[in-house]
Order: sequence, then structure tokens, then C-alpha cells
Amino acid sequence: MTLIDSDPDTGLAPLEFTVSRNLNAKSAAQRDEILVNPGFGTSFTDHMVDICWSVGGGWHRPRVQPYGPLSLDPAAAVLHYGQEIFEGIKAYRHADGSIHTFRPDQNGRRLQRSARRLALPELPVSYFVQSLRELVAIDGAWVPSGEDQSLYLRPFMFAKEAFLGVRPAHKVGYYVIASPAGAYFKGGVQPVSIWLSEDYARAGKGGTGAAKTGGNYAASLLPQSEAYENECDQVVFLDQDGNVEELGGMNVVFVYKDGTIVTPASPSILEGITRDSILQLAADRGHKVEGRAVSLGEWRDGVASGDIVEVFACGTAAVVTPIGVLKGKDFIDEQPTGELALSLREELTDIQYGRREDKHGWLVRLDG
Ligand SMILES: *Cc1c(COP(=O)(O)O)cnc(C)c1O
Repeated sequence: MTLIDSDPDTGLAPLEFTVSRNLNAKSAAQRDEILVNPGFGTSFTDHMVDICWSVGGGWHRPRVQPYGPLSLDPAAAVLHYGQEIFEGIKAYRHADGSIHTFRPDQNGRRLQRSARRLALPELPVSYFVQSLRELVAIDGAWVPSGEDQSLYLRPFMFAKEAFLGVRPAHKVGYYVIASPAGAYFKGGVQPVSIWLSEDYARAGKGGTGAAKTGGNYAASLLPQSEAYENECDQVVFLDQDGNVEELGGMNVVFVYKDGTIVTPASPSILEGITRDSILQLAADRGHKVEGRAVSLGEWRDGVASGDIVEVFACGTAAVVTPIGVLKGKDFIDEQPTGELALSLREELTDIQYGRREDKHGWLVRLDG
């Protein structure tokens, strides 16, 4: 059982977790071998968080337990109707060994917004942050210390009630698993090539585009395969009005030659915390920052005329990635590359890894 300060926003007392240790936990030697080259999303730590919710009982039975398969009734609503949401956030090891995460309150609030849209219960933000602390308290040794390495934390929530009727589930599970992650780009950041999805959308008007939910990712898989067939790394989607939306899992940012930074704004875009942080750092440097509709025509014409001088994508996993090429069914536009994307990337990762002052108070210590 661990106690942390009660939530200043709601006055909620912290949850009292029951911890059961994994008797088959990896040895230090096995773990260290994994941490040399962890890749992404393939290895998992020894424990996971599991909290239940029900209509009558609210949030209950908070546990840290051995990582392992879940037992689900085959009628569990998530398997049929996709009532599921998730988050992605990293834990970083600083040079002094301490472990920090980045703006977890923002991820907690976003999980609440996603929950509202998917008719799932809203986990209090203080419980969300506590769930990350509880997992890191027991699996902290899994936070790697190599350059650009981190422990990727994956909180998620789904409908586990066994019921085939169509309505919001009365029983829900919230979990956190963790996976050590290596440097996203081996041998330096490389610009990515982007395929323009002309036949498929990831979200529609009034749909779930702004929620972090598995269904949006399911909808992006076929267009992503089309991108691979066309020798592109990623896919970019347009909204119903022909405006640029985002990639399958990253937001898009345009840099104009007068220094203005523009990111597409639309109710169907997932509001990235990396994007928000990068735009804040750019504003701190004196850049004008705008969120507004950007049509495909504005993008292509801006690149052709030299008005747009850089285009990049951003998200927690890859941080900031310059876009090198935009390819469509009947065109290939080379994209201009500059210094700003990489310099903002460096500033952000310096803050995350404790190498630069955290002026905005974005870091939250997870251990100790
Ligand atoms: C998670 C996600 C992003 C990036 O959000 P971050 O908070 O920066 O990680 C962008 N688009 C989609 C669709 C996402 O799911």
C-alpha cells in the first residue's frame, strides 16, 4: 500500500493499492539484456495495474499484480463493439537516476475526454497519476538509462461486461502496462515519407477522431498498408472538407517563412501533448503560433512557392519527425527541411531527460 498526497483538485483520497509480486519476475541479468536494445512495444515489465469500475461500485479493487494474460468473458462488450480508450506516456531516467514523467495531468484529462466520448467512466486525474507511480514503484528498474531510451507507459480502459446488448457497459477495467522503448531513430532522426490517403478517412464529422480509441487505429490500418505499398512510411488523412487532419498517430505542424507556425485545428484531430508542448516552446522563442484549418492546396502551394519552409509530425513515441516527402496518387512533392523541427525536438527532449531547465513545470517525479 502506498499513500500520496490527496488530489488538490477534487480532494479525493488516494487509492489503497494491493500489491502482489510477480514470483516469476525476470532476473536483473535478463532485464538488463532486454534494456540493451528494447525496440518498441515488444517487451513488457513484470507487473501491471488493474482497477475495476462498476455502475454500483465506482472505482474499486486497485491492484498491482504480475503482468500476464487477462481472463475475459467471450461476450465482453469490448470484443464486439470496441468500447475502449488508451493513453501513451513515457517515464524518463535522469542522470542522477531519478525517474520522471511529462505532463501526466494532460494525459489524465485527455483520458477523461476520451472516456466521455466512448461512454466510459472518467478516471479521476489523481488516480491516473497515482497508477503510473504505483507501477514505477515496483518496476522502476525497467526504466532504461541509455540515450533516448524510456519506459513507455500504456494506460487503457475497456468494457468488460458480458452483455451483447448495445449500451454503455456496466463493468469496466482500467489497466496500465509498461514497455521499455529504445531510441525511435537509430543513427539520427530521419525525415519520413507520407502517403496522402485520398480514399479513406480516419474519422468523420461528429465521430471519434479526437478520442484516443482503438477504433480510429483500426480504421487507419488499411490506408497505412496502402502507404507501405507506395513506399511511404506513414499516411496523412484529410477531413471531410479536404483540410489536413493528421497522421495515423501523430499531429502535423507547418513552419512558414515569416516564422509563423501553423497546426491544423479541427474537432476530429487528436490533441497531442507533444504538439502542445512544441508549440509552447516555439512561442517562448517568439514564434507566432496558429491553430486553424489548412487545406491540401495551401500545403502543396505553400511548398511550391517557398512560403512553407518546414513540415513535421509529432507525438510521444517519435517526439518530432521531419516530413521529407508527400506522395499522392498522381504527385510526389519533396518537402523543404530546416533546422527548427530538430532544434525544438532537442529542447523538448532536453527538458524530458533533465538536461535543461523545466521552466513550465512539466516534469513530475515518479519514484521516491
Ligand atoms: C496519441 C496520438 C497523437 C499524439 O499525441 P501525443 O500526446 O503527442 O502523444 C496524435 N494523433 C493521434 C491519432 C494519437 O492517437
